[in-house]
Amino acid sequence: MKTCRPLPICLAALTLACALVAHDRARSPVRIPDLPGFQTLKCDFHIHTVFSDGKVWPDIRAEEAWREGLDAIAVTDHIEYQPHKADLPTAHNRSHEIAQAHGQTLDLIVIRGSEITRAMPPGHLNAIFLQDARALDVPDWRASLAEAQRQGAFIFWNHPGWTGQQADGVSRWYPEHTELVNSNQLHGIEVVNGREYYPEAHAWCLEKNLTMLSNSDIHNPLGLDYDLHLNDHRPLTLVFARERTADSIKEALVARRTAVYSGTVLVGREEFLRPIFERSIRVKTPQVRVRGKGSAMVQIHNDSDVTYVLRPETEDPDLSFPGEVRLPGGKTALLQVRGRAEDRQAERVVNLLCAVTNLLVRPNVPLKAAIEFNVTLLPK
Ligand SMILES: [Zn+2]
Ligand SMILES: [Zn+2]
Repeated sequence: MKTCRPLPICLAALTLACALVAHDRARSPVRIPDLPGFQTLKCDFHIHTVFSDGKVWPDIRAEEAWREGLDAIAVTDHIEYQPHKADLPTAHNRSHEIAQAHGQTLDLIVIRGSEITRAMPPGHLNAIFLQDARALDVPDWRASLAEAQRQGAFIFWNHPGWTGQQADGVSRWYPEHTELVNSNQLHGIEVVNGREYYPEAHAWCLEKNLTMLSNSDIHNPLGLDYDLHLNDHRPLTLVFARERTADSIKEALVARRTAVYSGTVLVGREEFLRPIFERSIRVKTPQVRVRGKGSAMVQIHNDSDVTYVLRPETEDPDLSFPGEVRLPGGKTALLQVRGRAEDRQAERVVNLLCAVTNLLVRPNVPLKAAIEFNVTLLPK
């Protein structure tokens, strides 16, 4: 006699099949601690769409950013470079309008911007927090920047070492940049653009008190340029803002309260990087025992998504430390400490000074930070 498979089993098989092909429309938060009095907002202020030379419709830019855990983006299509205009007429404000409409449904802040695209000097500059991008479309770059200033824009220099304008990849400061700083028409510089880091720009931001920025300058769909499922991420400008609003972001940018998060590296002023590091890590075993020349494991938890790479620098008469310690993001790592004497007996507070080699407070200068724990030394 023919029997029929019970219906619940068929449904279970169907549910399983759906689960195997489901694609979640979900956001992955970027975990970097807030600073005292400020929220750490994750932002990208340099993005292209089909309205200049990008390959993506603007609302997709908002969705990509929301999913990647960003708080704010600026869509900054080129004013002067419009390679798609035979198919899509020039409309300087449209990419912002389309991206912002979708951003509003996602609680993502979308800022109106444009890329003023000129030969070096002054090179390419982004103006963000614009009122009307169309007014920047004038022949003279000085007039374009004066108009951006009149609209209250925050203006920064893009990719100063881009090989498209500097064949040797070295960033150069021209008299025109001094002119712009002096007329309050240049407020920041991209220290990172895409996967490039410009040490000269990093130094200039410190010398001239300019805002450090780190942006993707993305033209392709994000997933074509970044392996998001392999811990890769677009470069982010971290903005230390009083509130999660566009006005607060602008206030923080003007006040130079930013840092750069690119790949595995953080770049920024020490006053920002130190609390980020100190608020990320926690010693879970603050009291360990070392017997003779044996060893103990200090457990250190890292609450952030940044993997910190430490190079211990303390010379200790009683203990030796490894040459390098990695604290992977979101995990608890082991720091092995080893005794130097067979018969020593003491209670010790260890303040292990480390260079955090992937946190740069100046070009080639890492942040120095201490990790504190107690060690009971016992004879063998
Ligand atoms: Zn550019
Ligand atoms: Zn660009």
